[in-house]
Amino acid sequence: MANPAKPTSLPIPWPEDAKVQVYTGGCHCKKIRYEFEFPDIYTTQMLSCNCSICEDRGYIHAFTPSDKFRFTSGSEKDLTTYNFGSGTVAHRFCATCGTSVGPPIAVLGAVSVNARTIDDIDIGRLQLLPSDGKSK
Ligand SMILES: [Zn+2]
Repeated sequence: MANPAKPTSLPIPWPEDAKVQVYTGGCHCKKIRYEFEFPDIYTTQMLSCNCSICEDRGYIHAFTPSDKFRFTSGSEKDLTTYNFGSGTVAHRFCATCGTSVGPPIAVLGAVSVNARTIDDIDIGRLQLLPSDGKSK
């Protein structure tokens, strides 16, 4: 697959000349299915934040440009939204099984996919970049 225009606004920039692949995933009950483009999931850093919401919901953030994410089953209508704090980020999860697929709402042109919900992923091999959200 050809490289996309280099995303510049991602919270974690992709490596130079990253070969982008399509990954699939979804929630436990399979009502929500998605696909998104991302460089190699085992060599590209993902964000692991220690703030209360990220810890409680088990987020591992794989950031991708919002136009590289799409639902293949279900839609935003099948997600329930939880807002807290300043309410600037809508935390969304499957209304049926509760899985946090991520907050697929574009913030500055990027979306976060919860890497735990990617199909057949080996969590222990991910390159996690710690973020001290607790102190912010
Ligand atoms: Zn579900």
